[in-house]
Amino acid sequence: MMEDRHCPKCGRSEGQVNFGKNRSGTQRRRCNWCKMTYTLDPKEWAYSEEVRQRAIEIYHSGMSGRGVGKLHGMNKSNVYNWMKKRKDSQK
Ligand SMILES: [Zn+2]
Repeated sequence: MMEDRHCPKCGRSEGQVNFGKNRSGTQRRRCNWCKMTYTLDPKEWAYSEEVRQRAIEIYHSGMSGRGVGKLHGMNKSNVYNWMKKRKDSQK
């Protein structure tokens, strides 16, 4: 059974529909609320620099690491790891 996913843009979990597949065969989904299309492959989210940056921005705007993780359908420890790495690289 496919894990329930939240829209990475608006965070809704309802109204998420299958939207074909990308070139590598990963299932894509679309949010009926904001028309955002995204992939269900968590690895793509976890290692995309764009997603990291967005997650970090949202985190710094006041959302908890857990909230950010939930928004992106990923483990909150990923988010915390990015924060830590980013902090280390800025030294
Ligand atoms: Zn949405």
